[in-house]
Amino acid sequence: MEGGIATQTLLLSQGYEPVKVISWRRAFTLLTLGKVEVLEEYDANVRTTTVVFKVPAVVRLLRAFRRPQKPVKFSRVNIYARDKYRCQYCGAKAPISDLSYDHVLPRAQGGKTTWTNIVTCCYRCNRRKGNRTPQQAGMRLRQKPLQPSWVPAVTIRISNRSIPDAWRDYLWWTSELSAG
Ligand SMILES: [Zn+2]
Repeated sequence: MEGGIATQTLLLSQGYEPVKVISWRRAFTLLTLGKVEVLEEYDANVRTTTVVFKVPAVVRLLRAFRRPQKPVKFSRVNIYARDKYRCQYCGAKAPISDLSYDHVLPRAQGGKTTWTNIVTCCYRCNRRKGNRTPQQAGMRLRQKPLQPSWVPAVTIRISNRSIPDAWRDYLWWTSELSAG
């Protein structure tokens, strides 16, 4: 097996959710360790010194996949994700490059840099609000900022064109598939 998408294996959780794309070698290692079962195979054979086997296309973890229950990292990007990339004042949705963040209670008035005092904000609203509270600026927050309890989900970004046929049944639900 040389290059190409057929050397990659889709790893599913026990619950059949795509977790990530791994190399077939990694998939084979997981298989020999008894950690996964093979759901789909490619036509290609691989020969090792001792065995010949079909290249696994889709494998499923046999045990529950536990995401580490760490608190969500406080970062600009996670603030944007929490706020769904929308300015929390005017509601405009924008790419990260066009977003800023705002201290609801301005730092000059003792506002802290925390989940509950930082919101996603477009540059225009940011300028308009300045060093004022929303009340002082006559602006209204769309929702109260909270510390998120979720862990950002693993997203698999692959274009439709490069998806092996063997994967399609397991990716049908994902909205990440682009028409590319
Ligand atoms: Zn705005």
